[in-house]
Amino acid sequence: MIIARNVSELHKALETRNANVGFVPTMGALHIGHRTLIDAARRENDTVVVSIFVNPTQFLPGEDLSKYPRREEADFKICELSGVDVLFYPDVAGMYGEDEVRICAPDVRGYILEGVSRPGHFDGVLTVVMKLLNQVRPTRAYFGKKDAQQLALITQMVNNFFMHIEIVSMETVRESDGLALSSRNVYLSAIERQEALKISASLKQATKQVMQGNLSSESIRQEMLTILLPLDVEYVAIVNRAFELIPEVILGDTIILVAARVGTTRLIDNVWM
Ligand code: AMP
Repeated sequence: MIIARNVSELHKALETRNANVGFVPTMGALHIGHRTLIDAARRENDTVVVSIFVNPTQFLPGEDLSKYPRREEADFKICELSGVDVLFYPDVAGMYGEDEVRICAPDVRGYILEGVSRPGHFDGVLTVVMKLLNQVRPTRAYFGKKDAQQLALITQMVNNFFMHIEIVSMETVRESDGLALSSRNVYLSAIERQEALKISASLKQATKQVMQGNLSSESIRQEMLTILLPLDVEYVAIVNRAFELIPEVILGDTIILVAARVGTTRLIDNVWM
């Protein structure tokens, strides 16, 4: 595995590889969720590039940028053992300059749900993903459905800017008790971790209700909110794939999303149906 710490090292590493490139952008503190993206990239491409970059521009003032988990050594090992060809590990100075052009998230889809409590977050996400995609120039890029709104906006950016990249979405990987894997789970105390299970439990119950034929978004939401008590819920939303709120679940075109704070840790999760 080659470790490229700047874009010229990256291009040098990729110079001789002109076949398909699969790319997995991450912020590190890698877990099995990241592993499934890397494994899919490994299966479907000749060359696999993983980036690890804790992108400062997607954190709002007061968010967890400075305490975001960093595990350089373990991450490098995981990448190596997963058969990654090139690990792109740039620093902030190599990614950003002064007074730069930025990508703006769309006015509606960028400012609902996650965008309500994190206004501007998706500008940072889209800008860094645009940079990374242009640096790596992959055939395919892999993203998790866990970050559903991010996935939708990246897909939209690639379409809106006519970029020749296939965006591949991957299912959410969970612990055996249902908790969606997240680098932020390390912030949870044992008691908080137990409380956090209410998030996946609420989504499980929503799925059950839909299976039983209850498609009413409002009644599903209410039941979920009851299960989520006493968590500090930011939103429970039922949207279609275009991220428009819908009054009834449409099988094959619905995502049910939750954002809640457990202690000081903000967690998100969702289910696609
Ligand atoms: P992050 O390092 O949190 O920026 O995540 C990097 C990529 O991994 C994103 O595309 C995430 O959606 C994806 N990801 C994070 N957690 C999971 C998970 N539990 N299952 C599947 N993919 C995930």
